[in-house]
Amino acid sequence: MSNYSEKPTIIFDMDGTLLDLAYDDFIWNELLPIRYAELHQCSPEQSTQTLFNFYQQHNHTLKWYSSRFWTSQVGVDVLAMQIEQKHKVAKRAGCIALLEYLKQHQYPIWLATNADTAGLAFKLEETGLAAYFDVIISSETVGHAKEFNEFWQALHERHPFNPKHCYFIDDTEKVLKSAQGYGIDALFSIRQPSSHKAPRDSFNYPMLDALTDLIPILQQAEELKKYA
Ligand SMILES: [Mg+2]
Repeated sequence: MSNYSEKPTIIFDMDGTLLDLAYDDFIWNELLPIRYAELHQCSPEQSTQTLFNFYQQHNHTLKWYSSRFWTSQVGVDVLAMQIEQKHKVAKRAGCIALLEYLKQHQYPIWLATNADTAGLAFKLEETGLAAYFDVIISSETVGHAKEFNEFWQALHERHPFNPKHCYFIDDTEKVLKSAQGYGIDALFSIRQPSSHKAPRDSFNYPMLDALTDLIPILQQAEELKKYA
């Protein structure tokens, strides 16, 4: 049994949750098609179609998140390409304010990302976020993408946590579903993962507009605990 006087663990996704997904959309949907077309001497249409087919084939698998896999598949050094564009990596609204609040109020803060270790490293360096987290884990290290129950089991083996005493925030529905399957009930998504795309109208999980919208939710939960 966990000690309920302790603060719940707050587990965050990175891309599309703490960071603006516009960067990743730009890399994969705009820049890579250009670089692929240049390398393989094909039209932008052909390049986009070929990459789209790859995307469809591998989406939500561990390979999909691996720079090394993409480099071997498409011939473009995608890690170098991402690092070359690292100045475009941006935090979402309220990111620092929320992390500061959580730190100040002694919530354990974890980062659980499908970004591979190399992608995670340069994004953390670029954004200066690493210092906020008690645990930082990439699905590449674990050997399973977050979309699968095995990820949560493996995370728990490395870093024990109580799924009933944690919050998990992620912009991807399949990931939230797998977290739910593992037993996490306090699940939140993001209304606008990419600043370059329209906000979502509806979603199967409650959505945060600004990340700081989580603060009153946590405060309310603390209040309720007093009377429990
Ligand atoms: Mg995400």
